[in-house]
Amino acid sequence: MLTDEILEKYEMTVGIECHVQLATDTKLFSGADNDERDKSPNSVVSPIDYGLPGMLPVLNRGAVDLAIRAGKALNGKIAPISRFDRKHYFYPDLPKGYQTTQMYSPIIGAGVVHVALEGGELIDVRINHAHLEEDAGKLTHYGTYSLVDLNRAGTPLIEIVSEPDIHSALGAKAYATELYHLMTYAGVTRGDLYHGNMRFDVNVSAALKGSDKLGTRAEVKNLNSFRSVERATEYEFRHQVELLERGEKIVQETRGWDDAKQKTSSQRNKEDSQDYRYMPDADIPPIILSDEEITKIQADVPRLPGEWRKILGDLGLEYSQIETLIYAENEYRGKVAILDMVESVISDPAKAKFIANWNVNVFIPLLREDDFNLTNIDYFKLELTICELIEQNKLSSTNAKILFRELASADSLPDVENYAKEKGYLQVSDEDEIIKIVDEVLNNPSAVKAVEDLREGNDKAIGFLVGQVMRKSGGKANPVLAQKLIRERIK
Ligand code: MN
Repeated sequence: MLTDEILEKYEMTVGIECHVQLATDTKLFSGADNDERDKSPNSVVSPIDYGLPGMLPVLNRGAVDLAIRAGKALNGKIAPISRFDRKHYFYPDLPKGYQTTQMYSPIIGAGVVHVALEGGELIDVRINHAHLEEDAGKLTHYGTYSLVDLNRAGTPLIEIVSEPDIHSALGAKAYATELYHLMTYAGVTRGDLYHGNMRFDVNVSAALKGSDKLGTRAEVKNLNSFRSVERATEYEFRHQVELLERGEKIVQETRGWDDAKQKTSSQRNKEDSQDYRYMPDADIPPIILSDEEITKIQADVPRLPGEWRKILGDLGLEYSQIETLIYAENEYRGKVAILDMVESVISDPAKAKFIANWNVNVFIPLLREDDFNLTNIDYFKLELTICELIEQNKLSSTNAKILFRELASADSLPDVENYAKEKGYLQVSDEDEIIKIVDEVLNNPSAVKAVEDLREGNDKAIGFLVGQVMRKSGGKANPVLAQKLIRERIK
């Protein structure tokens, strides 16, 4: 049995390779459709993708542009010259007999990703490099035979290779999540994890703490959810500690993750590392980029999560509120622009804070309700109008929420203030009107004791009197004003 005490003796070290499918219209070297979702097998494949003799690949400039955007998100320098190489191996889903990749001159150099752990602590994960390459096809195994689908063959990827800077399963999950945010915010990928748009290979090793050598690593391949990254990392670490505690040797190998069984198992032994016979690909000219070109493309990248965390933190939002917004931006991308609303009023911090808080506390919870459907109304305009009505003391926060919920599912936006007035949601801030109610309340025998208490300095009694004014006004009186007028009357 592994006790916490035993696990404590060992240090976990994790490095992650991540394959990101780029959101181009066509494939990396051919004109075939790059969106294989809902397509029948082998229907979006060009002869270039399966490498028929005599075919000539032509590099998709769109993929290069997305890699340049990815470089900005990874804080990595874009190489002025990068090249493609052939990585030779035979596999049924790679009929070319080699994968076109970048072994010696990758497009993105060393970088760093700032990862927010739960609770807001930041860790830096260095990026070794990231390179462009093509995806392979897909095999599906059925008992005694397997079928191959080449729709995915030739899909452009960037492979992001981290340094072994992660030391916990939660850190591995947080890093994978942050890459997802970075790549989707930067518009590099569609980010559909279910369809394998991002796949993680996790390299895990265990060594006694204080040892100056890393342990032998095992690689768990093709994880496609953040949770499986966390679980597989934790499982593999414990598995290795178990072996080490029994005095056994860890073999360097590739392992697979079984999500149903929640465990890893050996796939292939890497003790004799394979010789891929890398060689420069003579068919594809080098990618040559000028500084101006790179700057221009990267200037198009919108604010990234790190920058948003800073801005929202400066506005006074808490860690969990900030992460709610960062996630929701991705979750509702293309449907409603959660952070764009904040962006639109960024020069007015009070408004920006109101909109950010409103999205966290009111709009996002509403979006998550099963029976709520977005309509075509301008949600930003609605929020802004409500913000102004509250600022002008015309609307209480309780009625503001009721009003928002009603109008959020309307087909078109009415004049918000008129609508609120007709529905009786506006509060009365007219002193003459409120003073009448205050007098009625104070002249009522039930107020005698409260008034006495108040005069004797028992300030709690004011709550009772304000409550009476609110009741008499049907909840419409401005409570702040009511309180002020009561105090003036009984002075
Ligand atoms: Mn790869």
